[in-house]
Amino acid sequence: MAPMSVTVIRPGWVVLAEGGRLVAREELQLALDGDRILEVAPHLPAGDQTIEAPGSVLLPGLINAHTHLGVSPLGRGLVEDRDYRRVPFYMAIAAVTSIAYEPDFAAELHALMAAELAGLIRSGVTTVVSTNAAEVGWLLGALDAAGIRAYAGPIVPSAPQARGITDDTGQAVRLAATAEQLRADIATARALHQQYDQGPGGRLRVLVGPASAETCPDPFLVELADLNRQWGVPLTLHLAQSDYDVAEAQRRFGGSSARHLHDLGILGPNLIAAHGSLLSEDDLALLRQAGASIAHCASRKAKEGVFSPFQRYVEQGVRVVLATDAFTTDFIEEVRWAAVLGKLAFGSTARPTAASTLAAATLEAAAALGRADLGRIAPGLKADLTLVDLTNLFVAPVRDPIGSLVYYASGREVSHVWVDGQLLVRAGSLTTLDCQAVADRARRAAERLWHIARGRGRLQFEHR
Ligand SMILES: [Zn+2]
Repeated sequence: MAPMSVTVIRPGWVVLAEGGRLVAREELQLALDGDRILEVAPHLPAGDQTIEAPGSVLLPGLINAHTHLGVSPLGRGLVEDRDYRRVPFYMAIAAVTSIAYEPDFAAELHALMAAELAGLIRSGVTTVVSTNAAEVGWLLGALDAAGIRAYAGPIVPSAPQARGITDDTGQAVRLAATAEQLRADIATARALHQQYDQGPGGRLRVLVGPASAETCPDPFLVELADLNRQWGVPLTLHLAQSDYDVAEAQRRFGGSSARHLHDLGILGPNLIAAHGSLLSEDDLALLRQAGASIAHCASRKAKEGVFSPFQRYVEQGVRVVLATDAFTTDFIEEVRWAAVLGKLAFGSTARPTAASTLAAATLEAAAALGRADLGRIAPGLKADLTLVDLTNLFVAPVRDPIGSLVYYASGREVSHVWVDGQLLVRAGSLTTLDCQAVADRARRAAERLWHIARGRGRLQFEHR
């Protein structure tokens, strides 16, 4: 029987995984049929659709392993150029997100979520992991409609003041959530799972993410870990991201959060720990033994003046994956931040390489999600693909396609994106969202929220 509808892509290069490394191979073509990659070979006959892209590189779809959709556009102009030795990072962003999470501003939050989602897809992201504090049901519906692959759900505790916020003097404070609040959060997560989760074969998986070990009492941490395991989704949380977290862990657990998670039996291959900037050698050994992953958020930490040590994690044998943590929406630029800052942090221009940082955004990220059918280009795997044009003035000439992609390209050079075989970006335009309309709505939403934040005296830190 003839295949239903075959698309053939004829790029300049196809990025393949060979012996655990990514390499760009010339003179290969790819056929996709339905939601799967059908064939990768030198000469394929034309399909029902054929895309000729001789100056483009075809990648496995990019995976953003940790974000909070909607926050990024709101932080623009607020979080940069602050002196974070005087004003904690939390304060700058929480000053407006805490307003965006109020029910009265649901429409504004929706607009911001849509803008970040559109930016990620436009820049080649095919899978996103997001935990959110408000409007999670709306977001899950939007993720489904947008066609992206997603692991998303509520962050627990949902109350911003229980996760990390600052008082009037700019000091970070954390108020523990009450047991009633946490029980209500878990009930909400179960209801969202029931309504939106599509099961192992689906594009949309619902998870529930504890904010951190320090903000969630042990019985709830264990319950959340069990729930995610039972649902077959990753457990994602923040780990050792600031001096404050490390001090708080010492105060509460008499040791590190990584050790505490290990003692609770929560460290495992499904754990994706965001940041880990301040993990000790012992902590890294625990993560390695457990097969857990670090979601490295290079640009987010850089805005705070911290070079997260990407290469140090890799040398310690810990799986590292890439993520924006909601402080940029151009994922190709995020890969570049990871590569360049990774060299500065490691003190070597030779490591990490473009190929190893791209692997962290594809191959390694799929392994962290427990998905053997994602993160690589090979027959039979999911047709989640990103095609990037390398012919323009800022990128060409191309000698090393992976290097050109990582060091010279941006999300604007992404021409086509497929998820589950569905075309989400065609010739640089989103097929499921109107980019300009989404950007305009997000601008109006952010301006309203900034204005309200100023009126409530929340932006005082700007004048210090
Ligand atoms: Zn985060």
